[in-house]
Amino acid sequence: MGVDFATITQKRMTGGFRLDDVDGKNLHIDPGPGALVRSYQFGLNPLKLDGVLITHSHTDHYTDGEVLIEAFTRGMTRKKGVVLGSLSVIEGYKQWGPCISSYHLSKPDYEIIKPDKMIKWDNLKIKGTKTIHGDPTGVGFQLKLKNMNISYTSDTEYFNELPQYHDGADILIGSVIRPKSDRIPGHMCVDDFAKLVEEVSPKLAIMTHLGMKMIMNDPEEEARRIHKKTGTWVMAARDGMKIDLNEVMGSQQSLDEY
Ligand SMILES: [Zn+2]
Ligand SMILES: [Zn+2]
Repeated sequence: MGVDFATITQKRMTGGFRLDDVDGKNLHIDPGPGALVRSYQFGLNPLKLDGVLITHSHTDHYTDGEVLIEAFTRGMTRKKGVVLGSLSVIEGYKQWGPCISSYHLSKPDYEIIKPDKMIKWDNLKIKGTKTIHGDPTGVGFQLKLKNMNISYTSDTEYFNELPQYHDGADILIGSVIRPKSDRIPGHMCVDDFAKLVEEVSPKLAIMTHLGMKMIMNDPEEEARRIHKKTGTWVMAARDGMKIDLNEVMGSQQSLDEY
């Protein structure tokens, strides 16, 4: 898939993101290089995680998965938590993965995410979504909570059914690697994401996984450009950014930023 220079240069942090208190669970999504260290840096306790969710077998999404599992199982001494991941991440598929050792799967429960498959975990429902990306078993997902749906495209290029997979999303998080119409196979550029935002029409859209060209190209201005086109509130993720999703759901439209 090629190397993501934003990862190896660490121009932007690559620890993935955390969803805290989603119907009572704390989840770390795509814990790439630095996830453990950055958690502490930003005041998040990895011991309080209930699980990790890893969408595909690329290093920028999984390398800290095992240390986070060690954290929430207290050094593999407790049966606790859940690991959700693509087939490649959990079992391995051809030359992709596995990314988590069988040792690290011995204490938490684990389950494979597949497009259109619904996973139930206590009150949480997690639907797998399709991606077109280097790892053929890679997935995105939609978390169906009591009061909101949170969708994450993961790494994928735009394809015709992508909006259907993320239909009903209140919060739409997309991997957007390139600015404007600068399209490369397996990834979305800003114009692709704008199309997705227009179709899905979430309350808030967040661009993450910004590549080097994107970082150099005023990502905030790109977010404003999508907003003007779609009317949706759009943000470009910044390192350490925190968002209160309940507040987003409660606000009619917090467009003060514009
Ligand atoms: Zn990838
Ligand atoms: Zn990636």
